[in-house]
Amino acid sequence: MLVKTEGIVLKNMKYKESDGILTVFTRKLGKISVMARGARNSKSQHLAGAQPLCYSDFVLYKGKSMYTLNNVDPIHNHYKLREDLDALSIASFFIELVDTVTIEGQSNNRLFTLFEESLGALERKKGDLSLHILRFLLQFLKYSGYEPYLKGCNQCGTGSSSRWLLNMEEGGLLCQHCQGNSSGIAKPLSKKTIRLANFLMVIDIEDLKELKVHPTLIKELDDVFLRYMMIHLDRTNFKSLDFLSKIRRDY
Ligand SMILES: [Zn+2]
Repeated sequence: MLVKTEGIVLKNMKYKESDGILTVFTRKLGKISVMARGARNSKSQHLAGAQPLCYSDFVLYKGKSMYTLNNVDPIHNHYKLREDLDALSIASFFIELVDTVTIEGQSNNRLFTLFEESLGALERKKGDLSLHILRFLLQFLKYSGYEPYLKGCNQCGTGSSSRWLLNMEEGGLLCQHCQGNSSGIAKPLSKKTIRLANFLMVIDIEDLKELKVHPTLIKELDDVFLRYMMIHLDRTNFKSLDFLSKIRRDY
């Protein structure tokens, strides 16, 4: 049976001499493994579309244990991302995040669109790269089912408090009165940071380039939501993140 779907290649693992096993996040089928015969051969017509980060139309044959590549037609190869170390390391982080939460048979249209539009924006390098990372991280959490509740106190519902804490495990804010009743890891968040996080969770990618944010706010959001993500994804080792934190001092 042949299946058609859009997809973005997350990984291309060498298999035998010139074959590749692709990990593809598809719009229709979720994340799947695809056997791409001859796809690592320099003469292969599938070579371009089988590169990590390439966004393509796929035609796949569904076999008993895995999909086999029948045809791949690149829509956007995101080639420029591979020539820019900053953009590439951020894209690698996005790949690791997407790879962690996606599974076969479970499509996630909103996450797919977020991923594709974020790669495109990174390639065009419009706006503050730190804000691109934060917008992706927050919207990624939202579309993967880990959205933090930042509209008011998670326990009593109030919208006003002189100070706020984010309860990391429960994923919600605690007002000044409820902070004593809660256990677990909690991090303070300023009102400005909460407002910015709520904004980044809904802002359109094209509007991001107009946004100017003080580095201290970015740092505060980074510290809290990277930790938050690690707790909810139950994963702390992100190869791309170690590298990213090294080069990030420069922008
Ligand atoms: Zn409360």
